[in-house]
Amino acid sequence: MKKDKITAIVLAAGQGRRMNSSIQKQFMLIKGYPVLYYSLKAFEESCVDDIILVTGASEIAYCKEEIVEKYGFKKVSNVVAGGKERYDSVYNGLAAAECDYVLIHDGARPLVSVDIINRTVEAVKEYQSCTVGMPVKDTIKVVDSEKYAAATPDRSSLWQIQTPQAFKYTIIKEAHELMHKGACNGKNITDDTMLVEECLHCKTKLVEGSYSNIKVTTPEDICVAEALLS
Ligand code: C5P
Repeated sequence: MKKDKITAIVLAAGQGRRMNSSIQKQFMLIKGYPVLYYSLKAFEESCVDDIILVTGASEIAYCKEEIVEKYGFKKVSNVVAGGKERYDSVYNGLAAAECDYVLIHDGARPLVSVDIINRTVEAVKEYQSCTVGMPVKDTIKVVDSEKYAAATPDRSSLWQIQTPQAFKYTIIKEAHELMHKGACNGKNITDDTMLVEECLHCKTKLVEGSYSNIKVTTPEDICVAEALLS
């Protein structure tokens, strides 16, 4: 039987405006290594077959020379330019991929582990659409436009969503094609599972991640990530 090909798309084309830094967050140094290095290392050591790195058009040469070649990431098969929004970057990554299953990961999450990646690969082969996440610890309120609490959803059914998110390639490709044709217009699509749920009515299975798998967004996250990586 033919072995399934698994590709990881690692996203590093964001501007990271909430970081208030001239250096994009994915290239900031933590313990002497760029933020992006850590997630590429985890994917390199995981069971995925290859990695497509998506970055800004003007950072492609830097990524190739100063990250991929410098740290010897052999699984990075392509470095492609991203787009204006995150979903544009995913779309460009998907266009460069040729595989059976694809994992989509925020390069700004340096604490993803080999174990999380490998468990996500197992899950996507069984469920076709899945995402890493964790049960929320805090009570969550739905808030109205005047900042009054409008509802308090049952906490036991709430999970915070992380990456990687993983899909059968044909499913996520079709969902992105539909969105580009305007099928999901008007909806505030914030992640890829939402896209397959809204455009294709596909169910998403949750895979337990880790509370450490944070996204580096604001300056204090750099300190937290540094402490967690120590
Ligand atoms: O901005 P946000 O923190 O949601 O970005 C999540 C991930 O998506 C980051 O790794 C960022 O580099 C990436 N991204 C991208 N292209 C964009 C916007 C974000 O690759 N246009």
